[in-house]
Amino acid sequence: MSTSTLRIGLVLPDVMGTYGDGGNALILRQRARMRGIEAEIVQITLDDEVPDSLDVYTLGGAEDYAQRLATRHLTRYPGLQRAAAAGRPVLAICAAIQVLGHWYETSAGERVDGISLFDLTTSPQATRSIGEVVTEPVMAGLTDPLTGFENHRGGSTLGSDAAPLAKVTHGVGNGVGDGTEGVVQGSVIGTYMHGPALARNPQLADLLLARAMGVEELAPLELPEVDRLRRERLAAGRRG
Ligand code: GLN
Repeated sequence: MSTSTLRIGLVLPDVMGTYGDGGNALILRQRARMRGIEAEIVQITLDDEVPDSLDVYTLGGAEDYAQRLATRHLTRYPGLQRAAAAGRPVLAICAAIQVLGHWYETSAGERVDGISLFDLTTSPQATRSIGEVVTEPVMAGLTDPLTGFENHRGGSTLGSDAAPLAKVTHGVGNGVGDGTEGVVQGSVIGTYMHGPALARNPQLADLLLARAMGVEELAPLELPEVDRLRRERLAAGRRG
């Protein structure tokens, strides 16, 4: 953490942020504040250059056209790339996985170059994947099942420098038939889970928060309402 206030980057909420993905930044801020840590959200819009000095970054999903605008902006102002190279944690949801890959193909068949933070490529699948998803994490530091809501046509194939976030138990995930969900490469984590994902998966939220603060781990928060939400969403996901 560079200052006494934790600075959370909400990247391009004006074009990327379907299904309340901006809530991921709110969750990080709230979980920090509940532990007595000052935290603020810095919104980076299409009118702003992307700073490389924030403590953690979140990016949400988007429809194809908005996703293109975001790709162009992140290519033109490579602050996110510098922050990731410096080891700052980044959470990328759905379309943001695709934008952070080498390239993605839109549903209209157009190939767009991404910013290559992830060693992966994305192509449209025969059908759109919509519904609840439940997974078992394979990333070190996560043990609790993950849950979210997915809605994407693109399927992402991971290269050898990228590792999956989790194995799918219900739903589709990366969508290329290998049963994987999400991606981890260095300090950058991607997932197809909306939700917002961090509201549903507090362990993932705290992993990002701990890394943003440069600490090994954080004392747990006792939040019965979050436990209830998890029980309810896990059950809903497992019912399919
Ligand atoms: N447009 C992308 C796709 O359909 C991502 C959608 C999303 O972010 N919800 O694959």
